[in-house]
Amino acid sequence: MKEITVTECGVSATIERHTFGSGSPHIFFTGGVHGNEVTGIWVARRLADFFAANPPVKGTVSVMPQVNPAAARCMQRRNPFDGSDLNRIFPGDPDGTMGQRLADAVWCETADADILVDLHCCGQHGLPYILSIYGESREVRELVRQITLPTAIHSEGTSGQLFTEAVRRRRQAACIIELPSGVCGGAVNVQVGEQCLAALLDMLRARGVVSGAVEGDEPAFYGRLLDAEAPRAGLWSPAVRKGESVSAGQVIGTVDGEPVAAPAEGFVMSVMPCAYLMPGDTWVMTYIQPEA
Ligand SMILES: [Zn+2]
Repeated sequence: MKEITVTECGVSATIERHTFGSGSPHIFFTGGVHGNEVTGIWVARRLADFFAANPPVKGTVSVMPQVNPAAARCMQRRNPFDGSDLNRIFPGDPDGTMGQRLADAVWCETADADILVDLHCCGQHGLPYILSIYGESREVRELVRQITLPTAIHSEGTSGQLFTEAVRRRRQAACIIELPSGVCGGAVNVQVGEQCLAALLDMLRARGVVSGAVEGDEPAFYGRLLDAEAPRAGLWSPAVRKGESVSAGQVIGTVDGEPVAAPAEGFVMSVMPCAYLMPGDTWVMTYIQPEA
């Protein structure tokens, strides 16, 4: 195990890197870019445990399970020293603030990876999915096809994210996996974590890094995430559940008893549970549509 320590103005953060095997392909897993996204950290640690007991049959596997340790200590998304969202500032800056220095350290460590999978969480209410700019790279699409989770979604491609910068600047095959968290801060969704681990081992089997046959099915490819908002604040009561399909105009719930209609047809990824919606924060559902 290698430790990388980043220091700024007398405070420091230390990141663990675990490396198994040698040669190509080099497959790199990162977790905890956002400190409170613990299901991703849990999966990354399980991968490190797996390869400690079962070295790669071929190639190299690297794992950095918790790349933003101060944010994890505070159980928050952003780095507490500079308030940065680490996944908006890649490739970072070795002479910048703590977040920029951490991003630079992760960017440098991952420089020679062929494949980069960054493990995140998408809140409590959603389904897991693979997020990538698969439309920009054949290699990315091939990687995503091999990860046997049910759903692959096209990213907005916001710059400064580890996976988008890795694809565009270094031509690496990179993606994010978004996993639901448990029911409170610091809680792991173990069931989904196990599902993700199995899907990643399938990708590694397809690449000859882990022995054995692929067990799961390829994902279905969808376009971008779309949000449905209630027309106003009030008491929201949902009438649909994640994993259901909706048609345009279908009643998806009510606000103070008034029906709220689905803006378009789609597959429901995430739904607000029964809750009081506040003005300016009226999100009720996220849905997707098959790729065009
Ligand atoms: Zn995240």
